[in-house]
Amino acid sequence: MAAGGKTFIVEHLDEELGPWSELEYSAIANETRDTRGRFILSSLPPTFRVPAALSSNGAFTAERRGVEEIYAADRSRVCLLDPSASEDLSPEDGDKFDAFLFGGILGDDPPRDRTSELRKKGFEGRRLGPKQMTTDTAVRVTRMVVQDKIALDGVPYVDFPELKFNEHESTEMPFRYVTDQAGQPIMPAGMKELIQKDADKAVDDLF
Ligand code: SAM
Repeated sequence: MAAGGKTFIVEHLDEELGPWSELEYSAIANETRDTRGRFILSSLPPTFRVPAALSSNGAFTAERRGVEEIYAADRSRVCLLDPSASEDLSPEDGDKFDAFLFGGILGDDPPRDRTSELRKKGFEGRRLGPKQMTTDTAVRVTRMVVQDKIALDGVPYVDFPELKFNEHESTEMPFRYVTDQAGQPIMPAGMKELIQKDADKAVDDLF
């Protein structure tokens, strides 16, 4: 039986909640609820409108406070997932830490290292291997390692998958994803459709 009960904190660092982040956060909330954890979205601006898909999720908490304030008395129990950390995450880190902290940042290519905003706060860091992941993928991998006790190199993944929309349209995603049993990248519900819509819009904007 897998150990549950971990807290996953995403410190929201973007100005607003775009549709991509909303799908990513909903996926994190649903998977966290299904595995008996807690999901905190922290540092939310006063104007932040919490989407219904999140507010109705019992595992989810919206927080105005930042992670430093929430964990002021217990900083050593928080692990920052940091692409520049010198040590990779291991199943034993599930005993060392209660809470796992992620940057609420959309992936960018090339990566701009906005996780540095969290690194400055001084939490102990761990890496999830050398490739950039989307935030929901990073949470998924962390949960598999610290709750399901799967070593990082045992997590099935695919790098830079090509999403095919039809015979003529496809796009390559510049991230690492966990794969499902059919070897397909796991993405939030609705994400593939959103990516196609954005790609179509970019083409329309050319005319
Ligand atoms: N381009 C980014 C940046 O500016 O740092 C990466 C952002 S990534 C989409 C969102 C979050 O997922 C990061 O802040 C980090 O917490 C986590 N993450 C993604 N890939 C990771 C990796 N390989 N190792 C550790 N954490 C990772």
